[in-house]
Amino acid sequence: MSSVYPRKSSPSASTTTTAKASEVDNYVSHTLKTTKPLPPITWSNLLNELNWLNVAILTVTPTVSFVGAYYTKLRWETALFAVAYYFFTGLGITAGYHRFWAHRSYQASKFLQYFLAIAGAGAVEGSIKWWSRGHRAHHRYTDTELDPYNAGEGFWYSHVGWMLLKPRRKPGAADVSDLAKDPVVRWQHKYYIPLILLMSIAVPTIIPWLCWGDARGGYVYAGFLRLLFVHHSTFCVNSLAHWLGSTPFDDKHSPRDHFVTALVTIGEGYHNFHHQFPMDYRNAIKWYEYDPTKWFIWVCSLMGLASHLKVFPDNEVRKGQLTMQLKRLRETQESLAWPSDSNDLPVVSWDSYIEQSTKRPLILISGFIHDVGSFIEEHPGGAHWIVKYIGKDATTAFFGGVYDHSNAAHNLLAMKRVGVLHNGIPLAVDDKAIPPSQRLKIARYAELSSTTGASSATYSDVDEKEGLLS
Ligand SMILES: [Zn+2]
Ligand SMILES: [Zn+2]
Repeated sequence: MSSVYPRKSSPSASTTTTAKASEVDNYVSHTLKTTKPLPPITWSNLLNELNWLNVAILTVTPTVSFVGAYYTKLRWETALFAVAYYFFTGLGITAGYHRFWAHRSYQASKFLQYFLAIAGAGAVEGSIKWWSRGHRAHHRYTDTELDPYNAGEGFWYSHVGWMLLKPRRKPGAADVSDLAKDPVVRWQHKYYIPLILLMSIAVPTIIPWLCWGDARGGYVYAGFLRLLFVHHSTFCVNSLAHWLGSTPFDDKHSPRDHFVTALVTIGEGYHNFHHQFPMDYRNAIKWYEYDPTKWFIWVCSLMGLASHLKVFPDNEVRKGQLTMQLKRLRETQESLAWPSDSNDLPVVSWDSYIEQSTKRPLILISGFIHDVGSFIEEHPGGAHWIVKYIGKDATTAFFGGVYDHSNAAHNLLAMKRVGVLHNGIPLAVDDKAIPPSQRLKIARYAELSSTTGASSATYSDVDEKEGLLS
């Protein structure tokens, strides 16, 4: 994080890392420079550098799932239950681990907290404490080496590679003091192993066994195959959501918005929005976009289980969108050819204009001299009208005296500028001197202030308006 404001005296600099960050130009580059990564992974050290526990979990799960599914009949009751259990444990991660604990985007009753902590254990993705710590670093250091699932390392690294391999660096510092104090987080962390065995295998086996006598189907489909889906669905938030889709709110980093990602991640697919407004309890802001996690939290709030659902001010959300829209329009603007500006054209006297127009077809309109040689035969109103005005001022004729030309005609005319008549352009900004395509233009702030002196004018006005800040 770069430090824009000097924060040495800031009372809010509660952690040592924040204080340190204020002393260096950029925390990330400073940390990368001053700490040594572990040696790179090669074929010769690979076996030592694998995280064997994660390798076991992430290979045993698909193996049992596929082999089990091949030899086990799927009953419809078990199939429905497995889907429901997928959503139950998935929501434990998305609504619980992610939006509640990692981002504190709403408040939850104790009952809901235990419900989410237990459901999330069934997804076997580590304890809330470990998961949220990594996720906060992911948001704070997105796309850098301090981001534990840095998308810059490639799709598969951000999907599973970061768990299979021992990380080369510790994730960047993130404040998790609230989680360390949280009784539900501590309880889940303490009983994590029995909780995952209970919630990922025992419960999905026992329920189908007791209710419709299908223990084996429950074990294979609601236990393992469902776990495989929950794993890769939530892993997609780190891989697919940083790879596929659009950037309607900000394109500084890799997070993207895509419906397909939302579909496979229980609504976490509007990830460009999420990285811009991580405290917002929503990922999708439009009612028709697929975000079951948001719907779940909203229903919980109706039932009195959740409250204080955080929503970023719509005005600021729309500013982000507008910025990106303007950026894209600016790219279009820059890809087009524009007429020469009056400052870039030779200034010609009236007598010189008359004289030069005897040698080439020049027409004066709105103070600009145009060479219409390539256009005479193509003029939709007939060549004779153009010939008639060579060496004359055709301003009135062009703007309605003879024919009120279209915007397109005006734009095209401006491309034929070759000179400016001395004293010929009206001082006041006249629509006739500006082609319609240029009356609205996208300019960078620096361009505006350098031409109009806007910033200095703002400061010189201060005296007149002295008073309390409102
Ligand atoms: Zn992300
Ligand atoms: Zn997040």
